[in-house]
Amino acid sequence: MLTDSYRHKGMRKSLVRIVQEKGIKDKKVLQAIDQVPRHFFFEKAFLEQAYQDKAFPIGEGQTISQPYTVAYQTELLDVRPTDKVLEIGTGSGYQCSILLQLTPHVYTIEYNEVLFHKANRQFQLMGLSPFTFLGDGSEGLPQHAPFDKILVTAGAPIIPKTLLRQLTLGGKLVIPVGDTGLQKMLRITRMGEDEFTKEVFGNFKFVPLLGKQGWQ
Ligand code: SAM
Repeated sequence: MLTDSYRHKGMRKSLVRIVQEKGIKDKKVLQAIDQVPRHFFFEKAFLEQAYQDKAFPIGEGQTISQPYTVAYQTELLDVRPTDKVLEIGTGSGYQCSILLQLTPHVYTIEYNEVLFHKANRQFQLMGLSPFTFLGDGSEGLPQHAPFDKILVTAGAPIIPKTLLRQLTLGGKLVIPVGDTGLQKMLRITRMGEDEFTKEVFGNFKFVPLLGKQGWQ
């Protein structure tokens, strides 16, 4: 069982300062980064690097996103305490744990079975209870829709229409879209039944979103 020592807490404070200097302003997001022990989600080989502002391998060819990226996406999502949120791409479970600091209603879906079980074990050890699913999240989670917020943590080739249909009115989808090398961060807001606004933010590099609406 991993411990969260004063040393880890100190390194987290420095990480909070780093993401703040890079432009993250939302106090609740910064507080969440400060609260969640990122090293709990790391492979043994990389434990010492857990508080660097970098992405790291988590096995199965996947990565835990860079803390700045996690903070950036979470800030764009603008999570309220009553929001029902869907995360697509559970991965290590770190981003999900950040979301759980902001609302208790978090649904998360992972495509890779090994990572799904690993993240579930970690949630259990930490006493966290998101609703977890194994499957193709590129189609969302229609049986549990609608969601106030949907966050995609893998790079998509297109904006999946099925995800737009799973937003509440006023709901937001944050998704990196582009080719496999580079994506633009998009925020889509559902304004009406068939009315959506799109905002385009900076460039990011995510592992590919797989599945029916992702990369085949
Ligand atoms: N959010 C994760 C974290 O905090 O560690 C990082 C996500 S990692 C950058 C992307 C994840 O998306 C990988 O775990 C990958 O297996 C998953 N993924 C890719 N395609 C998916 C799909 N169609 N449905 C669900 N998960 C998918």
